[in-house]
Formats: sequence, C-alpha cells, structure tokens
Amino acid sequence: MTNDQLGKRVGLMGGNFDPIHYGHLLVAEQARETYHLDEVIFIPTGVPPHKTVSTVGADKQSRYEMTRLAVESNPGFSVSDIEITRKGRSYTIDTLGALKKELAEDTQLYFISGADAIMKLDEWKDYESVLKQVIFVGATRPGTDTAALAEKARQLNHTIGADVRIFYISELDISSTDIRNRINEERTIRYLLPEPVAAYIESEGLYKAHYPMYDKLNTYLKAHLSPGRYRHSLATAQTAKKLAIRYGEDAQKAEFAGLCHDIAKEFKDKESEKWIEKYHIFRDPCVEENPNIAHGEIGAEFLRETFGIEDDSILDAIRWHTYGHKEMTLLSKIVYLADAMEPNRKYGDVDRLRKMAYIDIDDAVLLFFNLCTLYLTKTDTRTHQYTHEMLRSIYETKKKRESE
Ligand code: NAP
Repeated sequence: MTNDQLGKRVGLMGGNFDPIHYGHLLVAEQARETYHLDEVIFIPTGVPPHKTVSTVGADKQSRYEMTRLAVESNPGFSVSDIEITRKGRSYTIDTLGALKKELAEDTQLYFISGADAIMKLDEWKDYESVLKQVIFVGATRPGTDTAALAEKARQLNHTIGADVRIFYISELDISSTDIRNRINEERTIRYLLPEPVAAYIESEGLYKAHYPMYDKLNTYLKAHLSPGRYRHSLATAQTAKKLAIRYGEDAQKAEFAGLCHDIAKEFKDKESEKWIEKYHIFRDPCVEENPNIAHGEIGAEFLRETFGIEDDSILDAIRWHTYGHKEMTLLSKIVYLADAMEPNRKYGDVDRLRKMAYIDIDDAVLLFFNLCTLYLTKTDTRTHQYTHEMLRSIYETKKKRESE
C-alpha cells in the first residue's frame, strides 16, 4: 500500500518558540522527510502547562507571529493559533481533541518536540490518552543524555503501549535561550533564525531587559497611539538605546524615554491647553500658535501624573525632546536626536545626522538645528525661545571646551 492509501501523516510541532529558530525548522523538516509527513503544523503554546514563559519572553501573539513568519516560505509547514487563542493552560490533550475534529479519522499524528520532554511525559495531563493518539517524537540537541531518554522511552512504550521515539538530528546547537540572551546583550543573532523573524524581533523590541515600567507603557502606547506613531516610538526607543550605549548613558532609561517621548503628541489642542494651563507651561508664541508643540512638556507631566514616573532624568528627556532646553542632559540630547534620526525618518541629510550622532552629540544637535532651520524658514514656522537658549548653551560649552 502507498502512503496515500494509508491516510495522512501530520506532524504537530509543539513548543513555546520564544523565539523560533533554525534548530526548530530543521527538526520539522527532517521529521517531515524521515516520517514521510504530508505536513507539519507548528503549534506555539499559549500558556505553557508547567511553567510561565520566561520573564524576558515574548507574549503569545508575538510568538505566534514569529512562527508564522518563519514557516511561510515552506509549503509543507503551517502554523496553528489553537493554543494561543484558547483560554487557560495549553494542555496537549485539549489540543488533540480540538484538532481531531478538523482532521480525517485515519490521520496518523506525530507530536514533535524537544527530547527532554520525554523524561516528564508521564506528568502530562492525561498522558496515556495523549500517547495513544500520537507517535511522540523527541528531537535531540547537542549534549542530550540519550541513554536516560532511551530508557524512559522504552519504559513508556513497554508499560502503556506508547510509541515514543528519539529523533537524532544533525547537531545544530541553537537555542531560544541563547538567542534571547544575545539580543539582550546586543550581540548578533544573524544566521540563527530566519531574517523576517529577526526583523520582527527588532521592530517590536523583543527580548531586551527593559526599564521596569516599559511593558506597561508599551501596552498603553500600542493601544492609544496611531500605528505610525507607535512604530516611530519603538524605533526612537531602539535608536536612543544604541546612542546611550555609545555614550555610556543608561540604556534602559534612554529606551524608555524614547518609547514614551510622544505619549502626548496626539492630544487634541483642547486637551493640550488644559495641561499647559495646569502645569504653567511657558507660553512661547509658538506654543500659543500651536499648543501641541508643547507635547514633550505635557507628556512628562502626563507620565508623572498617570503612571507615577518620578525619575527626572527620564521626564526631562521627554520634556525637552521637541524644542530643546539650555540645561539639556546627555540623556535629553540622546532622545532629542533619536527622535530625529530613527530609521523611519526620511529627509535629505538624515544620514549625515546619523553619522554625526555617533561622533559628537553636540555637533549632531547643532547639525539637526541647521537642517530644521531650512524647514522652519520654508514653512514660516517660529523657533521656540528654548531652542535658541539651547543652541547658545551648546556653543558656549563648545567654546569653553576648545579654549581649555
Ligand atoms: P519548550 O520550553 O519550548 O521546550 C523545551 C525544550 O525543548 C527546549 O530546549 C526547546 O528548545 C526544545 N524544543 C521545544 N520545542 C521543540 C521542538 N518542537 N523541536 C525541537 N526542540 C524543541 O517547551 P515544553 O514546555 O517542553 O513543551 C513542548 C510541547 O509539549 C508544547 O507543545 C507543550 O504544550 C507540550 N507540553 C504539554 C504538557 C501537557 O499537556 N501537560 C506538558 C508539557 C509540555 P528551545 O528553547 O531552543 O526552543
């Protein structure tokens, strides 16, 4: 009889995929070939049964999205949201029950996961029933104690008639933990996972140790800002972090301030007016003309009042990111520039600014002002008094430095 006549063979690739990497994809592809699978369905866990996803881990929606990006180029692969959309813990027994309703009765299921899972299979919910419904394939990785696994598999197969197999694959020493650590330490992850997944991680700022309130504000901004502004905020956060690392400033604070800098940018004029009044914000003529130009100062007060952020170095960086201030700190300059040069910014000479920002931060602030002046003159926009004071202060500091 041919494989076709026997009914379908479907691989179920279960794991957290936090993030998915070439190790997982290689296991799935080699299992597909070895067991003549018609397809492999990746099933990212929603809430893992025995643990919480690591504290630096990505949320379930992001893990699903990364998995989708990773498998989309392989017609033999697909991804299921069955566990991430189900409430409560992701027990495999429930997943099988739901999947079986969608698959032909004579489908042979192969549940593929890491070989380490074999040692604890008999702790799974209704494990005997699970192992009656699937052939369990545990993929090894470098350093796996295969003797202990073989013994455990033999025992399960013998006592309950399971079919637990150890799957020895090409040694590819890639792990999600290592990838998460690398990202946090700003080390390369290139060639460890597919490019679209790496790009997604970068754009979402995943797996980085953040300032304590980062996640809360990230959720707030995602819900309250327009998609374009939110994208800009994430990019500003990442650029600010890189600049902070370059200048030995606090990278977590820079990232956080970059993330939040435009929190009040989409306030309506009436709302802005309310905050200007309440916090006695200086009514420069350009603020009178356009109250929203004060969104940095408003944003700082809003963050303090609504989220209890009290760190003045962060609040000042947000406060002065639009028109600057004569007492701008290094962190403030970093956020000011990050806003101006993040990768989504496209205007003539932005690349010159990007280079200059890593050479001399004050020169970069001056360069940005010169670039702005052209625009301000063209659009007949006034320059805020604080901007003039900031420029004067930078020139004076530079002069002092040069004469020393
Ligand atoms: P995990 O934390 O993602 O993975 C544990 C180890 O196995 C890690 O070293 C991981 O490597 C590796 N791994 C994970 N998925 C893999 C795969 N498909 N192929 C090769 N290696 C893989 O996941 P887990 O907690 O062990 O869970 C694995 C699956 O078993 C999930 O589908 C989960 O829902 C299921 N499970 C069910 C129950 C239950 O029903 N009670 C209990 C436990 C687990 P990386 O870190 O590099 O990813």
